[in-house]
Amino acid sequence: MPADFSARRWERARRRVIAAAFLRVPFYRDQWAAAGRALEEPEPTPSAALADQLHRLCPFARPFDPSREPSPWIGDGRDLRDALALACAPRRAPVLEVRPAVLDRRTLAGGVLPWSGGRRYGVLLAPGARVVDEARRRALDAAALGLAAEAGRAIVVGERAALDAVLPRLAGVRVHVVERVSLGQAVRAARAAAATPTARARVAGRVSPGHAVAADPAEHDLTATGTLMGEVTTAGQAAAAGTLMGEVGAVVAHDPHLGYLAAVVAGCGQVHLLWRHVHARPFEGPDGDRTVGLTALRRRRPALVNVVPGDAGSLTTALCPAHGTPIVTPPA
Ligand SMILES: [Zn+2]
Repeated sequence: MPADFSARRWERARRRVIAAAFLRVPFYRDQWAAAGRALEEPEPTPSAALADQLHRLCPFARPFDPSREPSPWIGDGRDLRDALALACAPRRAPVLEVRPAVLDRRTLAGGVLPWSGGRRYGVLLAPGARVVDEARRRALDAAALGLAAEAGRAIVVGERAALDAVLPRLAGVRVHVVERVSLGQAVRAARAAAATPTARARVAGRVSPGHAVAADPAEHDLTATGTLMGEVTTAGQAAAAGTLMGEVGAVVAHDPHLGYLAAVVAGCGQVHLLWRHVHARPFEGPDGDRTVGLTALRRRRPALVNVVPGDAGSLTTALCPAHGTPIVTPPA
């Protein structure tokens, strides 16, 4: 991500979103009405409280119509594209994302056609996805698995349990695993990795961030001990790799409503925000805990302002000492 970050521009972008939200979006407009005056800021809202608010989070002028469009929570994939870039995932491999439902999307943002810049993209159904039977699940997964087989490699993005379930089906494919976690989990994982310098040194000596872990048998001890694996040679090894969190484990932070938010950057070990997509600001919660409220800067439908991700815990924001762009960290 280019380092042309400016805190002032970032805040201005957030202010524009807030102004539009108060003027045009019922969810925020109603907060003015309830307060009986113009508010400076929308109230922080836990992400979980937004699940059934979609119709109030879309602007008056373009209301959500479930009979004519897919759910706007699905997003356009640009956040995933940028999260993978931050996490230093390989650029050319097809992207397989574990999701609760199939999605009619063949490339991951950047263009409609594969040669116009979008990466090949497919969906693998999560273990809990509702399907009639296993045959139907296999049929729905076939396109994504075919992409991986054809390329001989794939980036697979999903929660740990889902990865354990789907990776054995990618036998013979070179898999780059990207673990999807909550923002709070990403921060805790980054902190734990920073606190284990031996693991860092062992791994840093062998791996260039986000790129190949050699397929050399000598590397297998890393797999067997469940240390950090950015890339593994077979899906079987990936399934056996245990936790992926740490300095070079590819970890992206996601929220069901905000989408992809951040990624652990291998070089500095920090949880970097996708600052072009989201603004984050610290505030004090009702229980005195400091946490962060996030504002989606690019999405207008739904409009998301001061949303507190689930499982955020005690967090604050800072600028990465190495990169000068926003990170999320535990409060000092
Ligand atoms: Zn950094």
